[in-house]
Amino acid sequence: MVKSVISDMDGVIYRGKQLIPGANEFIQRLLSSKLPFLFLTNNAEQTPLDLKLKLEALGIHGLTEENFITSAMATAMFLHSQKERATVFIIGGGGLINELYNVGFSISESKPDYVVVAKSSSFNFDQMKKAVRFIDGGAKFIGTNPDMIDPVEGGGSEPAAGTILAAISAATGKTPYIVGKPNALMMTLATRKLGVHPEDTLMIGDRMDTDIVGGIEAGMKTALVLSGVSDTEMIRQFPYKPDYVFNHVGEIDFTLL
Ligand SMILES: [Mg+2]
Repeated sequence: MVKSVISDMDGVIYRGKQLIPGANEFIQRLLSSKLPFLFLTNNAEQTPLDLKLKLEALGIHGLTEENFITSAMATAMFLHSQKERATVFIIGGGGLINELYNVGFSISESKPDYVVVAKSSSFNFDQMKKAVRFIDGGAKFIGTNPDMIDPVEGGGSEPAAGTILAAISAATGKTPYIVGKPNALMMTLATRKLGVHPEDTLMIGDRMDTDIVGGIEAGMKTALVLSGVSDTEMIRQFPYKPDYVFNHVGEIDFTLL
């Protein structure tokens, strides 16, 4: 029996600024079920408040900031579990800076313990030069999420965190440790935040190569929805399969799982 739920958002609840049919009913059912749940995203730019407001703008009400976990939050939780106090050099936006401050880390350009990298629209050569110098000097190289591109409104895509990580990686010869999906650590941190057991938890997502593999590796039950990236044809191309497949989240009835 499913006792808690962790769900991806992009391709599951919305696509860009468009709500996916059945998503609102799904969230209202989730709220009335009283099951503990979290919405999880690799996007490190948005804060839980941004996400709550985004869903409200799409007509979904009843969620609080506590209902979200981003790769920026997961990165901060992970680094804090490794080192209680640390100095960081950050390439990333307000969302990431905020989360690292929240766990008591301070920003430093003098021998930082970590170089933490997320998508940043203000990324420039000077930042890359500093990041490379710090990593060469012994700072640990951390990425929030591996996504190479992000879809943009109106179609097409733009470079994301993975491309910045690749540039720094090329210059240092070092591989970053990346906390976000498909790393199962992201799912494990989400279950820990909820205080639930992975084996009682359903992971819902639209991608076989991130949500489903991460859920399986974290020991969770998995449900693939066909409203985003992966389709039925793609399921066969992977060496693992989800426990459930739904056309969209509106079809999920927790009492039957
Ligand atoms: Mg998705």
